Amino acid sequence: MTASPQDGPIVIIGAGMAGLGAATTLRRAGFDVTVLERHNYVGGLARSIAYGDHIFDVGPHYFFLDVSDDVNALIRSCMGPGEWRPIDFKISALIGRHDVAWPPSLSAAFKMPLRGILQYVKLSLQRRVPESFVTSEYLQGAYGSAMYRIFLDPYLRKKCPVSDGANALHRDWYAQTTRTIHNVPDVKRDKMLQFEPALVEQYLDRYPEVRAAAERRRQEAAETGESDEPERAGPIKHAFNVVRGLTKLAAKKDYKKVLYPPGGVGVIVERVADDYVAQGGKLELRAANVQLNVEGKRVRSVTWDGGSIEAPAQVIWTGSVHRLCSMLEIPREELPFMTIMLCMMKLDRPLPDGDALYTYVADPEIPFNRIYYPNRSVEGLCPPGKDSLCVEISPTDFKDEADPERLWDKIASGLEKLGVCRREHVTEHMFMFVPDSYPVYPLDYREKLDRIWEQLDTFPNLRSIGRSGQFWYNNMAKSMRAGVEVAQDLLGEYRP
Ligand SMILES: Cc1cc2nc3c(=O)[nH]c(=O)nc-3n(C[C@H](O)[C@H](O)[C@H](O)COP(=O)(O)OP(=O)(O)OC[C@H]3O[C@@H](n4cnc5c(N)ncnc54)[C@H](O)[C@@H]3O)c2cc1C
Repeated sequence: MTASPQDGPIVIIGAGMAGLGAATTLRRAGFDVTVLERHNYVGGLARSIAYGDHIFDVGPHYFFLDVSDDVNALIRSCMGPGEWRPIDFKISALIGRHDVAWPPSLSAAFKMPLRGILQYVKLSLQRRVPESFVTSEYLQGAYGSAMYRIFLDPYLRKKCPVSDGANALHRDWYAQTTRTIHNVPDVKRDKMLQFEPALVEQYLDRYPEVRAAAERRRQEAAETGESDEPERAGPIKHAFNVVRGLTKLAAKKDYKKVLYPPGGVGVIVERVADDYVAQGGKLELRAANVQLNVEGKRVRSVTWDGGSIEAPAQVIWTGSVHRLCSMLEIPREELPFMTIMLCMMKLDRPLPDGDALYTYVADPEIPFNRIYYPNRSVEGLCPPGKDSLCVEISPTDFKDEADPERLWDKIASGLEKLGVCRREHVTEHMFMFVPDSYPVYPLDYREKLDRIWEQLDTFPNLRSIGRSGQFWYNNMAKSMRAGVEVAQDLLGEYRP
């Protein structure tokens, strides 16, 4: 369906990456758009927080620039001079006592058991996708059993305790596989999904234009005698690939580029929101109790405390899909969201230099699974001569969370044990819960999502997108791309 501004107002619920991506694109195209946000700030998970004179993000947040040219162009057009500052995405993992760049390079051979690194190198060169959907089996097939035992298994037990670690977790979670705006596994963009013929068929059924284009290309290739099949590597090419793979692993200089502006990651979404409002877009903050009122299969009105919009041409939902299902009386599915806790710390002196933006921690004796160093991204996020630290904690049995002093003691001991900082250098700390921060995929999550979308697709003027709206473990750029693409779809410009 192609919409025009004359069809009526567009209502978007949620001023995060997904909602604002859609809002700005549609407003620029002349639509009457209203964004309803329950908080008094924009950004959702992708916001920055001032803790006194220290700025933190909601856990480590870096904007990936390799996801969407459209989104990059949109953001760039909203940002001021000097705010577009791509940096290298360098992260690390504590494996045993060693801080190893992640994913490991050959230089890790000196820091890890040799068997672990050899298995990993061999498997990376094979470039095969392990068949199992169970994350524990998938990871052993991708990284080798030694790396799994010494790092990935204990890490995932800590990171994702609600799923019994990697044994009950669908591998799409670890791989963060891509979805389309219709919540179909995106086989076109995600090479890993292309190893599943049933998914390829599902995709081509949903997007017949892609099937037709592929068919046309095949016919043209047949007519010109060119083959579509990939060239098979001969022994010399194979040897060359092996050497090239090893050199790449050893050098490991091709870091992904991520955006991180001065002022914190929240600046990105604030600039997009400012642009949207400057173009005449309506933004209702503190919009409590949003209700979609449905007659038959159409959303007839959207109401909130203090306002309403009648006869919306489209409603774009980016809140929890569970809340949406309850409003529409669609049966709920068991798809858990995990709430995490952050501990933000102010330090009285700078930390020793390092280049990892954050570090994964697998040690089961330490309560946090990740340490993030805010001031390694950009200067000015804390006063000169000071520093900041933040650690991420997944839910445990909640005994520790109920006793903040006990938890703080364990965190401080953990930081000392790892040699990150001494507890007396932390002048203040603050805990923060982040509700529903991670969707966690049970092994049958695809079937459950299919059942929900079968129902949601019957509402012609309603779309549900984004991290919570699609129950999708994604990143900022993918959420915003979903917003931009839903807008493009309404404009008749979406190209799957
Ligand atoms: C700890 C952590 C670290 C991360 N690190 C990175 C990273 O390094 N790089 C990266 O790219 N991504 C990262 N992410 C992921 C990233 O934050 C999300 O993918 C992205 O911000 C999701 O955007 P969204 O708009 O889909 O959802 P959200 O950010 O959840 O936005 C939804 C918005 O809708 C509002 N809302 C919900 N329900 C209602 C309602 N009923 N009425 C009104 N408003 C409502 C919410 O308040 C919110 O503002 C991280 C996430 C976490 C939790």
